[in-house]
Parts: sequence; C-alpha cells; structure tokens
Amino acid sequence: MFGIYIHIPFCEKKCSYCDFYSIERVERVDAFAENLIREISLRGESGSRFPAATSVFFGGGTPSLLPPKYITRIFDALFRNFSISDDVEITMECNPGTITLESLRGYRSAGVNRLSFGVQSFHEAELEFLDRIHSPDEAREAVRLARSAGFDNVNIDLMFALPPQTLESWHETLRSAVALEIEHISAYSLIYEEGTPLFARLSRGQVRCTDEETDARMYAEAINYLDKNGFKQYEVSNFARSGRECRHNLTYWNGEEYLAFGPSAHGCIDKTRYWNYRNLALYNKSIDSGKLPIANSETLSLTERMFERAFLEIRAQGIRLDDFHKDFGIDVLSALGNDLQIWIKNGLLYVCAGRLSLASAGYSVCDELTTRIIAILETAAGKIWEISEYGKESTIS
Ligand code: SF4
Repeated sequence: MFGIYIHIPFCEKKCSYCDFYSIERVERVDAFAENLIREISLRGESGSRFPAATSVFFGGGTPSLLPPKYITRIFDALFRNFSISDDVEITMECNPGTITLESLRGYRSAGVNRLSFGVQSFHEAELEFLDRIHSPDEAREAVRLARSAGFDNVNIDLMFALPPQTLESWHETLRSAVALEIEHISAYSLIYEEGTPLFARLSRGQVRCTDEETDARMYAEAINYLDKNGFKQYEVSNFARSGRECRHNLTYWNGEEYLAFGPSAHGCIDKTRYWNYRNLALYNKSIDSGKLPIANSETLSLTERMFERAFLEIRAQGIRLDDFHKDFGIDVLSALGNDLQIWIKNGLLYVCAGRLSLASAGYSVCDELTTRIIAILETAAGKIWEISEYGKESTIS
C-alpha cells in the first residue's frame, strides 16, 4: 500500500480544541491550489520512483472549502506525476457546515469516492462548546446529501469525554450516528492540546475535564454499542462495517510509506519522516523559489522503527509476528513470555492469523499495555541486537 496525503489549510472558523494547522481566512484559494500543484510537480520531477498510490486523503483544515474545480486540477496533477492504482480510495474530509449537493456532486465527479464528516456530536450544546459551525440537523443532512451525490462510503468523526456530555447524551450521539447507516465511525476522546483556546480555558479553571472513569465508560459504551450494530473495531478509535476499513489509515498503521503535500503535511518515505512548513507564507515562499517546502526531516533509527511499528500495529490490527521477526530479529511471543500468557488469560490480547492483537477488553487498557509491551521488546532487542547483525543499526546499548 502507498498513500498520498494532501493538507488544505483553511477553515471557516477555528474550533476551540483543534491544533491542526489551518487559518480562518479563506482567501487566495486559487494561488494556494497553484502552489499545491507545483509542489506535486516538484516531487514528481525529483526522479524518485514511487509505487502506485492505493489511497489519497484530503485532510485539513477543511478541504470542502475548496470548490470542486480545484480538486479536479489537483487530481490531474497527481495523475500526471504519479502512478495511481485503478481501485484507489480517495477520501475527502468535509465540515457539514460547508457543503451543498452541488459541491458534493462536483467532488464525486472529480474522483472522490469516500467522505469523512467531522460531526463530533449530535447535541447542540456540545457542538457549541467545541465551537463547531454546524448543527446536528446539518450533520444529518450532510450524510443524506452525500448519498444523493452518489457516495456509498461515508465516515463520521465523533468525540466523547466532552465536559457538557453525559453518558446518556453520548449514547444518543452513537445512536444517531448508527441511524444514518454509514460505513465507518471514528470516536475520539477529547484531548486538551496545548496552545488551543480550550487548553487556555482549562488552565484558567473555566473548564473541568471529564473524570477518567466516565471517559472509560463512554469509550466502553462506544465499543459495545458499535459492535452490536455491526461496526467492527479495527483500531483504538476506528470502527467499520465489514470491508469498509479506511485504507489510508491502514497505510499509516502498517508502517507503509506515504507522500504528503500542503502546509504542515507529514510524509514518510524510505525510512525518513519529513514535514512541510506549518505556515502558509513560508510554504508559498519555498515553492515560489522552486524548492520543496520541507521544514525538516528525520531518518528513523532501527530502534525508533521498532517502537513505532509495535505501537501502531498493536493499536490497530495487531503486530505481524513474522514481519516483526524478519525486520527486527525479535520473536515477539517468546520475548513477552509469561506476561503474554497472563494477558491472554485475562482476555486482553490474542494471537490469530500470525498477529498479536488486542482483544476487546485490551482496548480499554491499551496505553498501559502498549507501554509495557514496548518496554519488554526494548529489553529483548538490547540482548539480541548486541550479538546480531541488527546491532550495527541499533541505538540500544
Ligand atoms: S473544522 Fe476541523 S480542522 Fe478546522 S478548526 Fe475545526 S477541527 Fe480543526
């Protein structure tokens, strides 16, 4: 699998909790689209060869603020410069407050085949708390319009542990989401990101965090309710109907490579992570001078790759045991030894089809479990790499 991520850095209004890079001024869209296309061409001309892209993801910001004609032009640039798989999944994030039937039809004609709506809640007061620009009814209408425009693959994002939320209102939000008969649901616990207006309100004591127990009960409610309604959990925060897992997400979680375009976008190619300027002016300046707008990059060490692989895979579809052994020289099951037997006995983990995966009960203690697993693997790596060829690349001593 190989992915392409495109970051659209405009929002109509910043949400209080959001720390993604975006600006509220939706202006000079034409100039931005031109530069995005130039960035795609610069990367295409770099001489590097990439596999055929199996997913393209328009994220942001609010990609649905870009009129369809720009999406068409961006696709043309992608097709000119890269190989794109025939059955590519093309996702566009949309804010329910920024779409019309006409714009959705335009995106569909441009080639978008999956929509992801940032819904967050079906309660007015909770949406106001988050500074969202849409109402619950507009979110329902957005999904209806998506169907009318021909989309048969729709995700909605939801949030729990919101201060004004109760267990009842969270259940009601889940129920409303399921009633829309969509294919995919992402459910995230609210995070207070430093630098956001919400974090400032928390620091001033104007907001009280939801307590851990309620947060855990809301999460458990999501897992149980969505499972009962045909959504299989395939990552900590992601639930899909059979065969509707997000391919782009799977690309990240399986540690595959992906290119990224647009301000603040992060890519990973040839064991090297890179990220673009998180500033539209610097981004434009770099492209105007004919350079890729890369702010910085880092090549991952063997140790970092092992940590990242274990962290991402255990939270998603499970650690691929043979690949892990091949890439890092570590037999995961032997390394985890007795601890693993206890975790399996307690219903937290299971081994199936060559993977070590989280069982449903394991998702609730995923962070602690992941930390423990990684610590054990680090110790095992220290011993094995010392006496093997892996040691040449390792930073563990
Ligand atoms: S619409 Fe999305 S990207 Fe924009 S501020 Fe809100 S959460 Fe962030």
